[in-house]
Amino acid sequence: MPDAQPVENHRTIDYALNFHDDQAQFFRVEPEPDGRKVIVRGICPGCGGRTRTVWPTGIGSGSKGTFTGSGEEAAARIPDRNRLVRCECGLSHPNRPATELFTGCGANWHVEMP
Ligand SMILES: [Zn+2]
Ligand SMILES: [Zn+2]
Repeated sequence: MPDAQPVENHRTIDYALNFHDDQAQFFRVEPEPDGRKVIVRGICPGCGGRTRTVWPTGIGSGSKGTFTGSGEEAAARIPDRNRLVRCECGLSHPNRPATELFTGCGANWHVEMP
């Protein structure tokens, strides 16, 4: 069941804020060459569309991704490496609020930062 590289099969479901657990293994988290952001890519667990999210890195951290301090220090600086990612399939979903910044179905899930 892991080895899931599903073919694109987008479902035009109604927009809904649904949290999906245990999705991290299905998403690739790749640092950009400049080290200032990471790209999260995968297939949305809600609508099946390809989603791509760009995260700035280094927030609250002076280093560029590598920690030289102890584990405790690192934990204090980045309390939670899990980030909430929202579907950004870029395709339209009915009932999406005009105020919603993310162009997706509203599905959200956690990924782990590298
Ligand atoms: Zn979608
Ligand atoms: Zn979606």
